[in-house]
Amino acid sequence: MKISEIRNSLQSLISGDVLWDKEILKFYSVDASLYQIIPKVVVIPKTEKDVISVVKFANKNKISVTVRGSGTGLVGSALNEGIIIELKKFDAIKIQKNYVEVGMGVTKGSLDKALKIKRKFFPPNPSIGPYCSIGGIIGNNASGSRTLKYGSTIDNVKEITFVDGKGQKITLPNDQKIGRKIIKFAKQINIDQFPKVSKNSCGYRLDCINSVTDTHKILVGSEGTLGIILSAKLSLRNIPAKKILFVIEYLSIFQAADNCIKIKNSKPSALEFVDRSTLENIDFKFRKNTNCLLFVEYDSNLKYNEKNFRKLTTGRIVKKIKIEKEIEKWWKYRDLALSYSLKSIKKEDQNPHIIEDASVPLDKLGKLFSIINKINKEFQTKTIMYGHAGNGNIHVRIISSRQKIKTLEKISESYFDQVIKLGGTITGEHGDGIARSEFVKKQYGNKNYQIFKELKEIFDPKKILNPGKITSHNKRFKRLENF
Ligand SMILES: Cc1cc2nc3c(=O)[nH]c(=O)nc-3n(C[C@H](O)[C@H](O)[C@H](O)COP(=O)(O)OP(=O)(O)OC[C@H]3O[C@@H](n4cnc5c(N)ncnc54)[C@H](O)[C@@H]3O)c2cc1C
Repeated sequence: MKISEIRNSLQSLISGDVLWDKEILKFYSVDASLYQIIPKVVVIPKTEKDVISVVKFANKNKISVTVRGSGTGLVGSALNEGIIIELKKFDAIKIQKNYVEVGMGVTKGSLDKALKIKRKFFPPNPSIGPYCSIGGIIGNNASGSRTLKYGSTIDNVKEITFVDGKGQKITLPNDQKIGRKIIKFAKQINIDQFPKVSKNSCGYRLDCINSVTDTHKILVGSEGTLGIILSAKLSLRNIPAKKILFVIEYLSIFQAADNCIKIKNSKPSALEFVDRSTLENIDFKFRKNTNCLLFVEYDSNLKYNEKNFRKLTTGRIVKKIKIEKEIEKWWKYRDLALSYSLKSIKKEDQNPHIIEDASVPLDKLGKLFSIINKINKEFQTKTIMYGHAGNGNIHVRIISSRQKIKTLEKISESYFDQVIKLGGTITGEHGDGIARSEFVKKQYGNKNYQIFKELKEIFDPKKILNPGKITSHNKRFKRLENF
């Protein structure tokens, strides 16, 4: 079908907008990764009927449909060639007692604002802050600093309504017929080849499906490859009355990694790590030989935790903060770690995110740091590190001359082999996207990978939903022509 026919047909089919101006297509061709794919057309549906019509049209004509949230993803998950669909008009927020029903175009910022009035919050808090959409949060199984206590997105969603690749509207876990099919797959997996971690955004999370009440979780982290989510019911928590934040400096990353185990046992609400490059951007005089910081927050048992914290830490406490505004200021420093790192790396030394998001069992965190150090030595690279240490989830930015794509390939292979050996996942929260889909098979092994493919077939037999992601062997570097 000619591009002009696709555009005109879509325009006659739906009440929403169908766009193809050069500048619009360019805008939707990129996200927060270094990849670029120009789509054929962008659709902004107004109604659920519009979404169903677009998918049915795409299914009939074998054109890809990729749903996009706010485009803040770091690995190109929302980029593709065919139709890009953005649900920004699906922005309803209905707050109930212990859950909220939201449209997928709602941004995290507007949800937080609406919930704050009721003294409630939805726990997953990606560092990007208010900008990302709930669609993208569910699509990636996103998480953040408070995941340590409250879990990732997958632990905080109660119900999902979506349109599958055939244009059928489905609500899970209500639809038991579809639910039983998902459970059949969940029972077949080889669980030994699933990572032993507290957060994981790789592949399809069949390991989280234990009964019919869990079946909606298959959509979480599926990156728009199984269905286009229209709305969801999200779990809510009460905003804690008070918090306390400790900032601790350490002489080495290994000392900090070792201390994380003891600190985690005290049940903090957050346990985060930044290396030297971030602390150099913080408006505070640390000791000269400070190598890294841990941010440790408690939101319950404050008196007890305040009294006992000194006994837990092997580092030097440089800040104990109880005032909310001051706590927020220090969390901003942590949340800006990615921006600080980008600022400090020359453009020609920046590299695509590939190994930026592994997560390992917490007792293996020191080993993960050793692996990164060895990689730096072997490949003559440098790295900047920060992340959700309590979940063993460390973000790594490689600094190396951009021309060495072969080197990046070797680094990824070597790093992922070692992460998997430690019982880790190649992605704790950012997802597979263009960058990592070819490694999903390495992560889960042949049998589980085949099950993922069969599962995809059930929801999207013509493979029109975000093709090239999760069950794909596409080489990621093909997409870096401008790199
Ligand atoms: C500075 C910075 C910091 C970040 N920090 C974090 C962090 O701390 N934790 C974290 O988890 N991530 C983080 N991210 C990554 C990213 O911002 C989050 O994962 C975010 O949730 C993505 O949301 P989005 O709306 O931008 O999604 P997009 O990038 O637009 O899409 C992400 C995926 O979700 C799918 N999707 C979108 N809408 C739907 C829908 N309606 N139905 C089905 N699938 C859908 C897309 O197809 C795509 O596969 C960070 C990114 C940046 C740039």
